[in-house]
Amino acid sequence: MEVFCPSCSTGYRIPPEKVPSRPRMLMCKSCGTAWRQGFPARAHSLDGQPSKVVIPFDKPARRPQYAQGVLAILREEAALEQRLRKA
Ligand SMILES: [Zn+2]
Repeated sequence: MEVFCPSCSTGYRIPPEKVPSRPRMLMCKSCGTAWRQGFPARAHSLDGQPSKVVIPFDKPARRPQYAQGVLAILREEAALEQRLRKA
């Protein structure tokens, strides 16, 4: 992606693999201006995404308890899905 100095408009090219997932302070090599540059979230990475999952203190998260019959059905479905993927 390309970023531009807000002061002198000098453009800088950042290779995609080096684009940070969070806003960073950048400094213009041309005029020395420092600014905070935001970066778009990369599609293949969730880095920098704020977590929206809030777990209250008085209700500790627990794994759902499944009855044995339900567990058997879930296992069957998983096996069926694996067979379908192989086919
Ligand atoms: Zn500049």
